Amino acid sequence: MKTITADIAIIGSGVGGSSVAHQLAGSGAKILILERGDFLPNEPQNSDAEAVFVQSRYKTREEWQDAKGALYRPGQYYYVGGHTKFYGTAMFRFRPRDFVSTMIDGAASPSWPISYDDLAPHYAKAERLYGVRGHSGLDPTEPPRAGFPHAAIPHEPVIAALADRLRGLGLHPFPMPSAVDYGPGGACQRCGTCDAFACRYDAKGDADTRVLRPLLTHPDVRLERNAEVTRLIVDDRGQRIIAAEVQRGGAMFRVEAPLFVLSAGAINSALILLRSACEAAPEGLANRSGVVGRYLMNHHLTGMMGISPFATNDTKFPKTLSVNDFYHGLPGDADARGNVQMLGNIQGPMIRSTYPAMPRALANWLGRHSVDVLAMSEDLPNPDSRVRLTSGGQVVVDYRPGGTAAHDRFVRHVRGILRRAGFAAVLRHSFGIQAPSHQCGTVRMGNDPASSALDGMCRAHDHPNLYVVDAGFFPSSAALNPALTIAAQALRVGAHLHNTRGQDAGAAV
Ligand SMILES: Cc1cc2nc3c(=O)[nH]c(=O)nc-3n(C[C@H](O)[C@H](O)[C@H](O)COP(=O)(O)OP(=O)(O)OC[C@H]3O[C@@H](n4cnc5c(N)ncnc54)[C@H](O)[C@@H]3O)c2cc1C
Repeated sequence: MKTITADIAIIGSGVGGSSVAHQLAGSGAKILILERGDFLPNEPQNSDAEAVFVQSRYKTREEWQDAKGALYRPGQYYYVGGHTKFYGTAMFRFRPRDFVSTMIDGAASPSWPISYDDLAPHYAKAERLYGVRGHSGLDPTEPPRAGFPHAAIPHEPVIAALADRLRGLGLHPFPMPSAVDYGPGGACQRCGTCDAFACRYDAKGDADTRVLRPLLTHPDVRLERNAEVTRLIVDDRGQRIIAAEVQRGGAMFRVEAPLFVLSAGAINSALILLRSACEAAPEGLANRSGVVGRYLMNHHLTGMMGISPFATNDTKFPKTLSVNDFYHGLPGDADARGNVQMLGNIQGPMIRSTYPAMPRALANWLGRHSVDVLAMSEDLPNPDSRVRLTSGGQVVVDYRPGGTAAHDRFVRHVRGILRRAGFAAVLRHSFGIQAPSHQCGTVRMGNDPASSALDGMCRAHDHPNLYVVDAGFFPSSAALNPALTIAAQALRVGAHLHNTRGQDAGAAV
């Protein structure tokens, strides 16, 4: 088997992998990034809702099994840049209270081993790196911070009118922080397809466009595409990772490095660790605690369509507004809580992809006459909510959301507000684990090696030269979009590795 060597091997080129690579470039270490996907082709179908949603053109073809044994094609995207190629560009910092333990309807959300203050400088750097636009001082839950690197994207008329109506109801809508290269001289063409589509104009602040592609000009950074890591190999004592086995087409090759950074996404990183089980680590790598693959979370995500039968919504980029008045609880019900933000424009084909029996004309009418809102609440970690492998290697996703009743109360409240804001009807739809867009928690960090896989610097308790920097490290999900927190922690880990030059990992970088 061919062997490639590097000083640092990074597995996965999503927001975690790209951000850690950004921080490590220039350290003198030879960095090799292994990515199972290729560059996403730039083609008209990128912004064609029929191709993206009805034909599932970009989704993986692999099949996972749900808890009832049914096979399905998950909403997973394997490309350079990972899921940020399709993300909605909402780039929120978690709130200081998200890092400390809390209860929701009697169930616990644990503390993180790090605080907001640990991440604050890296949040600021991540906002610059990904080009986040926003306006500080208007979100009532916002921690003290310097301004955003770029001015907020202004509301289009329909969204401005909604903001006015929400203010009239006593709320504090604020410009949603968003990573889009918008404005004079910017790449954004206001094409109207952004959230859940890939950007044909490289205007989205995704990990490929903003971080990895510029890095590839660096002589020490090398990207291997179509290179799927099947497992990691550990030494005979079960301590140091010595190699990764990689599959490309029908062929295998091996990568050896003194330091490995795993960032294949929360579900796939857990699967790689579980597939790496061997005599020295029979439950899989980094898994003496038994937590790998467990505590799978995905946020409670409910889409709401506010319908106005006599008005059409021609907004091109609606994701300019968010409401955090209920982030820490409803009046009289502190457990029912979360964030409210605009969704990308829901179009007819998107509705038909979920409700295939709906007549095309009705779906298109709903798409034109709706203003689309997302209510997001914290999903609580549960050890029985897990991804695992059968003895035959089939991936099983046995997802058990936590905090569903509290989310439902929150959604009913938000729905009432939308009705009071003037919508004739408000339709709702819950997004499930079939599209695990906010997957996290499967390789959790913590101070106690008996109940976590990683320490607060994302280093595996069991392996000194293994770090995991995708959303798998989250001990709790908070109720805000995850990408900026993944980026900030990956930058923090990268800075640590750069400064120590891998000494604590015993790595020769
Ligand atoms: C439609 C959609 C909209 C979203 N909108 C937002 C939003 O507005 N704001 C926000 O914050 N978040 C959003 N998210 C979530 C966000 O995109 C993810 O949380 C984030 O991108 C995850 O980053 P990651 O680095 O943890 O993992 P990933 O993005 O999954 O990256 C993992 C990478 O590893 C590669 N990989 C996987 N397995 C292997 C293997 N075995 N070998 C080698 N490579 C491998 C993958 O191809 C991928 O490139 C959205 C997600 C989706 C799908």
